Amino acid sequence: MTSRYRVEYALKTHRRDQFIEWVKGLLAVPFVLYSQPTGVFDSTGYNVAQTVEEAHRRYAEIFRDVEAMLDDHIAHQAAGNKVPSKLRLLVPSIGNFFTRLPLEAAFKFQDRKRYISSRRFVAPSFNDVRLILNTAQLMAVTTYGHLQLATFDGDVTLYDDGESLEPSSPVIPRMIDLMRKNVKIGIVTAAGYTTADRYYARLHGLLDAIASSTVLTPQQRQNIVIMGGEANYLFEFSPTSPHLLAPVPRHRWLTPEMSGWSDAGIAALLDVAEASLRDCVKTMNLPAAVMRKDRAVGIVPHDPRVRIPRESLEETVLVVQKTLEVAVGGGRGRDFDNRVVPFCAFNGGRDVFVDIGDKSWGVSVCQKWFASNGGGDGGGEGGRDSNAIVGEHTLHVGDQFLSAGSNDFKARSVGTTAWIASPSETVDLLDELADFMGKKIT
Ligand SMILES: [Mg+2]
Repeated sequence: MTSRYRVEYALKTHRRDQFIEWVKGLLAVPFVLYSQPTGVFDSTGYNVAQTVEEAHRRYAEIFRDVEAMLDDHIAHQAAGNKVPSKLRLLVPSIGNFFTRLPLEAAFKFQDRKRYISSRRFVAPSFNDVRLILNTAQLMAVTTYGHLQLATFDGDVTLYDDGESLEPSSPVIPRMIDLMRKNVKIGIVTAAGYTTADRYYARLHGLLDAIASSTVLTPQQRQNIVIMGGEANYLFEFSPTSPHLLAPVPRHRWLTPEMSGWSDAGIAALLDVAEASLRDCVKTMNLPAAVMRKDRAVGIVPHDPRVRIPRESLEETVLVVQKTLEVAVGGGRGRDFDNRVVPFCAFNGGRDVFVDIGDKSWGVSVCQKWFASNGGGDGGGEGGRDSNAIVGEHTLHVGDQFLSAGSNDFKARSVGTTAWIASPSETVDLLDELADFMGKKIT
């Protein structure tokens, strides 16, 4: 699984996560200056425990300083300050934050698990920093507020790519535990099936466990929805339906903004995407067929046993994305700025799809759905014009924050996020979360 990310970097250096790389660079300085690699073979005048303690102290200081810089950045953000924060000057691509991040505490937590300070040859890595940020985010959503909604990506987050959630999956009891604690769950997946049987095939382990659970009340069984095709098909739990899911008609869940996307605009966007995909199939001689749906268009291999090379899939994503940005976005720059009909082009591992909307819309729908269904307990704090669950009470867990399309990245605009690299990391993350929900840090 780690090779996934290594390939990514080699392919597109411009897609590095600047903030994580910057923190990694800061940590490299004390590592280079103070680590004692020679202590491995020559222990004269050298105390291991002391060196570890010194490395720990210096790393912790860096995280404390970055934490203070983030607080300053958040203060700028809250004041709507036009003058950039110091952090924005140093890391121009830094985003907005829904919560402060207790980085020093999170570092101490992860150092106890990963022995980062004990290493003498391997400097604090990208993955170390990513996991520290995840821990800090979990501490934040359980300390400064009350986690109300957890949304999950499907492939690579809940199960391995292309697999399904089997009854033996260790993630299932942890998700049920969240539902039991009245945390709402949204599975926000790119898988764009229009019927319940297909989602049941992918998620049957979880759905059966919810149906037969003895710890969930009938009302708590409704604490889950499936949002498919990023933001296009909503299903609610339905104990009496053959596949335990019932489709929810669009008019019941489309947000006012989403209702504004005209059918003509959607068709026009998909037409452009379809032509561009056909072009890629021809140019790269891909063994794939174009598949058009009402809210998506993609290419899928003729033979499911054939794997299209990863580079061809990535090339296709980038070609279609650029074509759409120019055609629909009028060359206005970033794809996020497309105000006509938002779209998301992504590499699904075996296929490429262009969906209407993206995960930020999918997560928004979950935030509103649970509020309007009596879900959000006090989500609307004084002065908010809607009772939807807010970003600081939402956590999205996903694996796509860097690769072409990076659909989980878009969820950052509507809630807090955790970036995992495998289903087993999701299990670890949920254990950490349960731990923090039990005892708030002070
Ligand atoms: Mg995924």
